[in-house]
Amino acid sequence: MDNITAIFKEKKLKLTPQRIAVYKYLKGTKEHPSAEVIYKALQTEYPTMSLATVYKALKTLVEVGLVQEINVGEGNFRYDGTVSEHPHVQCINCTRVDDLSELDLTSLNVEAEKHSKYKVFSNKVYFYGVCDDCQQK
Ligand SMILES: [Zn+2]
Ligand SMILES: [Zn+2]
Repeated sequence: MDNITAIFKEKKLKLTPQRIAVYKYLKGTKEHPSAEVIYKALQTEYPTMSLATVYKALKTLVEVGLVQEINVGEGNFRYDGTVSEHPHVQCINCTRVDDLSELDLTSLNVEAEKHSKYKVFSNKVYFYGVCDDCQQK
């Protein structure tokens, strides 16, 4: 908790219970939930919190760089408490999103430079496939 207080202070963010709840939830999951999923998950603990509030909290957290918004296609926004750059893979069947933290794609920046006149600093890569669970079905 002290950690969150310090982080919010550093970002000059007001410590509202909603923001804390959303941030804590994202820090505690690897599932890359959508706003709706976060909303449902927090409903028992915060019954008065609306979906609009969750969206607002997410927007603020993304703006200050505490949370990463990932767009896996067709306006399908997911949220990630890990803000460092890492590739993602999404299951085209059940739409789950996983991290590919071990995969280093910085060499892609060099490749992109070879094909352009840009100095390339970063990339965002999404892979699509069928997850382990869905393959078993
Ligand atoms: Zn799947
Ligand atoms: Zn991630």
